[in-house]
Amino acid sequence: MADPASLNDECTLREKAREVILAGKLPNRRPDGMWGGPGGGANCTICSVPVKGGEVEFEIEFARDGDNRCLDKYHVHIDCFAAWELERHNLACRAAVVLPRPA
Ligand SMILES: [Zn+2]
Repeated sequence: MADPASLNDECTLREKAREVILAGKLPNRRPDGMWGGPGGGANCTICSVPVKGGEVEFEIEFARDGDNRCLDKYHVHIDCFAAWELERHNLACRAAVVLPRPA
């Protein structure tokens, strides 16, 4: 029952994803660029665990101020990316409920 892999279950990942969004460590919008590939040992922005060689990592890029020459890059696990996408949509939905609609 104490499988270490179960520590990274979906709920935990989604909590971490929400934390990095709220802390501003990862933008709350669609990436401007995205690549998948074998893990290169870089720490995952969401769960802080390195993406190992045998795993798939996503590299997501955000243009700063819409300038494509100035990119912020983040490495994340494929599962963490999925959790981040879910939380991003959840937060966007909640914001739409809380904020008044533009007239
Ligand atoms: Zn991760």
